[in-house]
Amino acid sequence: MSERTTIVGEINQVEVDPGHEMIEQAARLLLDGGLVAFPTETVYGLGALALSPRAVRRIFEAKGRPATNPLICHVWSVDQARSLAAEWPELAQRLADEFWPGPLTIVVPRSSRVPDEVCAGLETVAIRMPAHPVARALIEAVGEPLAAPSANRYTEVSPTSAAHVLDGLEGRIEMVLDGGGCQVGLESTLVALVGDEIEILRPGMVGAEQLAEVARVRDFKAQVVDDLKARPSPGLSRRHYSPTAPVRMVEGGEFEGLRRGVGTKIGLLGLCGAGRSDGADRRFLPADPDGYARGLYGALRYLDRRGVDEIVIEAPPREGRWTAIYDRLARMGR
Ligand code: AMP
Ligand code: MG
Repeated sequence: MSERTTIVGEINQVEVDPGHEMIEQAARLLLDGGLVAFPTETVYGLGALALSPRAVRRIFEAKGRPATNPLICHVWSVDQARSLAAEWPELAQRLADEFWPGPLTIVVPRSSRVPDEVCAGLETVAIRMPAHPVARALIEAVGEPLAAPSANRYTEVSPTSAAHVLDGLEGRIEMVLDGGGCQVGLESTLVALVGDEIEILRPGMVGAEQLAEVARVRDFKAQVVDDLKARPSPGLSRRHYSPTAPVRMVEGGEFEGLRRGVGTKIGLLGLCGAGRSDGADRRFLPADPDGYARGLYGALRYLDRRGVDEIVIEAPPREGRWTAIYDRLARMGR
């Protein structure tokens, strides 16, 4: 792949609108078939025109992502979402009413307008309406849905800042819109609709308890699927979310022992608490799930860059709003 210059467009989300100079520039690049990374409230996305097979193929090429792993389409309005679906069930509408714009992705039967490349051969398409003002302004300026997976190389941890995006994709994409850090920090909750019921394919910060207010939620069974089989949700593969260093999750007691020892070449990631402060190879995250999620990928990337032989993570709680965090961490173990 030929090297290109990646433009970095700084943008203040308070001042953004579709006529903003940076948004217009980004929209032009996208309409020309280019790739633009942009902030969403979950993680940074790598956008291309969802209805252009050529533009979408470039996403896979830039990320090194297997063609068996389908992409999420990002929309500006419910009408735009419906235009991508062969069917828009009443339950999809109720979920959209409740959670959009926001960190929930809904899988529905796909319209024939959606290129095969986006859906990796599945008969369904995953759709989300992001809440981040920069993402919204960009999709509005383009006037078409954007396919956008996380803006990292395949198997890298998802990016929650423009610097993270550049680490993996500089020279491989036309532009990144730098809108600062992501508020949520973890990928969206991904749901399929099974009749009147909701099936969680990937947990996220829209939790089962919230979804249950809209319809019955099937018990989530954490599933890890083989990388090359595109069922039922390919991003559930183990390698999808991992740092380069091997990752091990241990319980609090064992973690405390390692923390007090003079371990060499071990990166430690724990929960904030008495006597615990960040050091060269150690990071501590807030003991509340929202703060933890927001800081997680940045901390993992930091420890990975230290070149440690192993990253040891103190197991956080598994319940309630911690479910999605625990799910991602559990996938990182080998
Ligand atoms: P990423 O945007 O990199 O977080 O990845 C998108 C996630 O959505 C991956 O886990 C995909 O496997 C999943 N996905 C996309 N489209 C579908 C679909 N039609 N059915 C099930 N999962 C999907
Ligand atoms: Mg991803």
